[in-house]
Amino acid sequence: MGETYTVTGMVIAAQPVGEYDKRIVILTREKGKISAFAKGARRPGNAQMAGSRPFSFGEFDLFEGKSSYTVEAMRIKNYFEELSNDLEGTMYGYYFMEFAGYYAKENIDGTEMIKLLYQSFRALLKESLPNELIRRIFELKLMTINGEYPNVFSCMICNEEKNFRYFDFEKNGFICDECAGNNHVGAVMITEATAYTLQYIITATIEKLYTFTLKEEVLRELGQIIDKEIKRFVDRKMNSLEILQGFIT
Ligand SMILES: [Zn+2]
Repeated sequence: MGETYTVTGMVIAAQPVGEYDKRIVILTREKGKISAFAKGARRPGNAQMAGSRPFSFGEFDLFEGKSSYTVEAMRIKNYFEELSNDLEGTMYGYYFMEFAGYYAKENIDGTEMIKLLYQSFRALLKESLPNELIRRIFELKLMTINGEYPNVFSCMICNEEKNFRYFDFEKNGFICDECAGNNHVGAVMITEATAYTLQYIITATIEKLYTFTLKEEVLRELGQIIDKEIKRFVDRKMNSLEILQGFIT
């Protein structure tokens, strides 16, 4: 006999099965990324219809069968339905979920990634924050949570902790002025604001991430570094990012 579990999480993907059902992917605090069957979720009037869509955050009662989970009940706390009026924001949201799904595995603790998705969706709803900035903060923080990020607190060559103006892509971190003077191959000069922003995103709590804006040139520089970080660590392209890029350019 299977068991029933209650988990807290967010639906990050869904696909139709048969005429009336769905298979959903839930990123959960307790069990990491799991896939579950939502029976009847596409039948009009079904109690699980709204909550078995991506963006839905709440509690899910799951029955563990022989080979998969079945959703028995759900208590959704936030559907982020305001985002559905904003096509671009929705596309960013799908990209964030795909990227989080790339890192998430079964049986990991999904707490931090869920919190990051949640706060990022809230940030997408704020007019004052550019979506491109939210994207960059999300990407670097997601990678940081999963242990893949540059060293931005000491020189990669001499270990000194100073103010930094050079980023070395080969060594994947900052190098100080003296070391850059001696072997600046592979290092690029960055602004102080970019250096500070990298340090801030990597160390700030998730609740404090979306509290600043950047000048355009700083955002561009930050984006170039993060693109290279993604290239370095992530071995596949996200389909939702390609769709998004086609939409915004
Ligand atoms: Zn140095």
